[in-house]
Amino acid sequence: MSSINIFNSGTNLLITLVALVVFAFAALYSSQGIKIGKGIRYLFVGMTLEFIGSWFGYSMGDYIQLGISINILAFLELFVLLLSMMFLALSASQLLVSNIPDTPIIGAITALGLVAIIYFCLIAQDGVMVSYMRQIFPLTGFAYISASFWSQSGHKNKTGFLIGGILTACVTILLISKLLNVESDFINSLWYISSFVYIGLAVALLIIKVDFLNKKLEDKNSEIEKYNKRIEEIIKLSPFPIIISRLSDDRLILANNNAIKLFGIEAGELERYRLKDFFADSENRRLLSERLEQEKVVQDFEILVKTSTGNTPFWLLASANIIDYNYDIALYAAFQDITSRKNRETLLKNQAIRDPLTSLYNRRYFEEEVTKRISLARMKGDCYSVLMIDADKFKNVNDTYGHKVGDKVLIELSSTAERALRDCDIVARYGGEEFVCYLSDVGPEKAQVVANRLRETISKIVVYSDEGKPFSFTVSIGISSSDISDNIDTLIKTADEALYRAKENGRNRCELFTKEDLAKFNKEAEATHKDEASQLHPVFEKEGAEEISLLDGIEANHISENNGNIEEQKVSQTKEQNKPQDDYIPILGIEEEDLK
Ligand code: GH3
Ligand code: MG
Ligand code: MG
Repeated sequence: MSSINIFNSGTNLLITLVALVVFAFAALYSSQGIKIGKGIRYLFVGMTLEFIGSWFGYSMGDYIQLGISINILAFLELFVLLLSMMFLALSASQLLVSNIPDTPIIGAITALGLVAIIYFCLIAQDGVMVSYMRQIFPLTGFAYISASFWSQSGHKNKTGFLIGGILTACVTILLISKLLNVESDFINSLWYISSFVYIGLAVALLIIKVDFLNKKLEDKNSEIEKYNKRIEEIIKLSPFPIIISRLSDDRLILANNNAIKLFGIEAGELERYRLKDFFADSENRRLLSERLEQEKVVQDFEILVKTSTGNTPFWLLASANIIDYNYDIALYAAFQDITSRKNRETLLKNQAIRDPLTSLYNRRYFEEEVTKRISLARMKGDCYSVLMIDADKFKNVNDTYGHKVGDKVLIELSSTAERALRDCDIVARYGGEEFVCYLSDVGPEKAQVVANRLRETISKIVVYSDEGKPFSFTVSIGISSSDISDNIDTLIKTADEALYRAKENGRNRCELFTKEDLAKFNKEAEATHKDEASQLHPVFEKEGAEEISLLDGIEANHISENNGNIEEQKVSQTKEQNKPQDDYIPILGIEEEDLK
């Protein structure tokens, strides 16, 4: 029985043993839940059985000596090998198609193999035929795989099965002719047949695998289509405007009716539009993209958008995320119109920072904003100026034409000043009929030119009384610049000083607060302060007295600290002293003859 010694060389046994150990580790590793674990476990069982079979064949000589029939021994060896083959086939199908065939198919093929073994070992009793079992086993395994693929892939792709079937049939015919002792030169010359069979079977298996993958792809595609249709339906029914755009070129792929209406999209020409066309603010869009890149999902993001035709921007609240859609990576964005909410917010914000009569910024906003601007300008070494504007003899306007017309004058004055200055300048109502302006990048000389131009422009405004009578008015302007101070309070106080001088010097004119003025004011302030301190301070009064309160000392220190270096304090004190008296009578008024 040399022909059944397929595995009985020591080397083969060793190789099988090594493979067994490798697969034992693989099976152990796969038990930790990896995807191909089941296939590897079948492989391990198959290899174990094969090892047992091989061991059995290897030690067959010992059993024969014990007087056991060689046919029984051959049957046992082949039976174990058949089982091994079945498990290896199960493993192959599990690894290839992630599934094993139905139990009846496994049962039928096992039975087929069993019949073959019984026939060869016990009925045919031809030891030579056992060598053909080497071809029977792969064929049995292959027949099994073919049948299982066949049962799973819906009979659509047949090439692989056909090749396998033809090969199976050819080898079966060959075996039968051997069994029937058909001797022919042709059959005897087919010594290479088994190699061809193995190669052919490998090719058939590959084709089956490719076909199977194709089928899987088709199934997946139809699933994707179904999923897309479902998404489309959900999107169309949504009460919110929704847009899907391709990430690669930003073009729209889908937009529901609400989105079409909101953005003014032509329904049939979605591809014509890009999402970026609807963004009114590119910075806003950049921020959204940045967030999406980092987080993949963005919720409640406020965006300023416009329609495809109109240029009036409006606010939307957007929720967006990256999805797979129609074989593309796409951006899904749902919107909510928040224009009215935004308008309310803007209104509230404006109410906080704007003057209701003239709509100019109020004093608080001016001071905050200019403080920021000044520190920026200082960093860059830029100059700046502040103008203090006061309507001349405005009381007369009210008295002559009434408060309402006075309001009209203030509104006209404001809008003229805003129009006359640049966007980068700030105009604010400082209070009553006083206005203040911050001029960026403008030094004292240029500020005088700007102020005079503004004064002239204002003097040309014509306002009509309730009776339709036209009249004009004038303003006086005080100027202070970056060479005086970088403190907003000081700048306003010094500009006010200059304004006071403009009033004194006849109104309808501009005056600049110079460095010389500053030195003079500081000196005067110091003198006044010293004088006040020596007269009023309780510490001096109590000098020489027996009891001096601890608090007295603290107050004294506090005052002397302030004394040294707070420039604006001096300026304001000087101003207090120079303040016009209550009985001060304005010189330049708006008289009847001024009316045009
Ligand atoms: P001068 O040239 O010295 O500035 O004289 P003036 O009359 O403009 O100055 P005065 O401070 O005596 O009067 C300012 C007037 O401005 C008094 C006040 O009734 C008026 N006024 C202040 N705010 C408003 C306002 O909102 N509307 C109106 N119509 N008048 C205002
Ligand atoms: Mg005033
Ligand atoms: Mg005034």
